[in-house]
Amino acid sequence: MDLNPTAEDRAFRTEVRRWLETNAATGDVKTLDERKAWHRKLYEAGYVGMLWPKEYGGWGRTPMQQAIVQDEMARLGAPPPINGLGIGFIGPTIIVHGTDWQKQRYLKKMLTAEEIWCQLYSEPNAGSDLASLKTRAEDQGDHFLVNGQKIWTSSGPIADWGILLARTDGKAAKHKGISCVLLHMRQPGVEVRPLRQITGSSLFSEVFMTNARAERRDLIGNLNQGWEIAQTTLGWERGANSLGRVTRYAVAFNQLVRATKELRRGGKPLLEDAAVRARLGKAYAELEVQRYAALRVLSALQNSDSPGAASSITKLSYTEFEKRYFELALEILGPYGQLVSAREEFEDIDTSSGEPGTWATAFLWSRAGTIYSGSSEIQKNIIGERVLGLPKEVRADRLKA
Ligand SMILES: Cc1cc2nc3c(=O)[nH]c(=O)nc-3n(C[C@H](O)[C@H](O)[C@H](O)COP(=O)(O)OP(=O)(O)OC[C@H]3O[C@@H](n4cnc5c(N)ncnc54)[C@H](O)[C@@H]3O)c2cc1C
Repeated sequence: MDLNPTAEDRAFRTEVRRWLETNAATGDVKTLDERKAWHRKLYEAGYVGMLWPKEYGGWGRTPMQQAIVQDEMARLGAPPPINGLGIGFIGPTIIVHGTDWQKQRYLKKMLTAEEIWCQLYSEPNAGSDLASLKTRAEDQGDHFLVNGQKIWTSSGPIADWGILLARTDGKAAKHKGISCVLLHMRQPGVEVRPLRQITGSSLFSEVFMTNARAERRDLIGNLNQGWEIAQTTLGWERGANSLGRVTRYAVAFNQLVRATKELRRGGKPLLEDAAVRARLGKAYAELEVQRYAALRVLSALQNSDSPGAASSITKLSYTEFEKRYFELALEILGPYGQLVSAREEFEDIDTSSGEPGTWATAFLWSRAGTIYSGSSEIQKNIIGERVLGLPKEVRADRLKA
């Protein structure tokens, strides 16, 4: 991929920057309704669902143009759109595997955030080993009867719909007996219990399904094809929006450098401490590595329909970096990091408080990155097997030889 922006890309960037400078919402976007209103404005300007086909309400733009918008939003500190799970990876999954009816019914309302979506995959004993999931969906002809429990469901407390993985064939091998179906969250058989996190917010939840009903017409793909469909979702989930994230780190980096000029230790600005300068220099170099890793995903997206297994490299790289980065920030800032606000966008959308996160909450959030969307160990396994083509298992007798 040619990473030099074309004249058209440069003109597009100017247009986006102008629009954001005129329209970007600032401190008044806190409640869910305010966030939905801001989201709607972004959508109508053509900055949400940019890669989606026009026939489903998208804008048919290029991955480069989408990256430009994410980049400019991060630069200006504009609040991100909501419904990230829906637009980022559930919608793209429906576009690839869904029926025409499903596309017409769900996609546009997802894009406009009229309906908020969540992902019902993980269970108490099925996280990394997702195929061990036990939630059952019994085939009743025109619908499925769903019983079981999900956990760590992001946006569960505000979701209208969920994409669900459930067992439809208890006798088949574990990867083969799973189906993927859309579940209406606002029905008597679905109980959502918010979980309080270390940051103090409750963005995710447990979800209990007791004789919940999922319609047959909401089955994605074929019966027992759920595992294959889940791979599409996860590919998008891991690679999405990495360039926008890098810009956010870069903006925060500048804030951090400014703070080291203002804060004094032993009567001198922190920045004059050689150890602080060396650590900041290393972090900046790593930041550049992240930028190129993000461009690798962008390049893969420009050349194909899905980011594929290589998105695991980027996910592993930026989430591990994020932990080191915020650890460093807290080391440098000390107790000051508990008080001062890191930019709002480091905290995922917290509709319960709407408060911007401090550097300390950003640090706490960074611990989640190496767990969600598949832990770092799982990403390494995927890279070994599917990117490098290494054998799945190393037999003990071969190791001895
Ligand atoms: C903030 C956050 C949001 C989330 N949102 C959602 C959501 O919206 N929907 C959803 O379905 N899920 C969600 N999850 C769940 C997430 O996908 C799981 O937490 C993740 O897959 C890990 O599963 P687990 O927690 O059960 O840990 P386990 O699978 O029990 O893993 C425990 C430890 O063992 C290691 N391990 C496990 N298996 C292997 C192996 N084969 N090789 C090497 N090491 C291994 C892991 O790396 C980890 O360190 C979210 C998680 C977080 C933290």
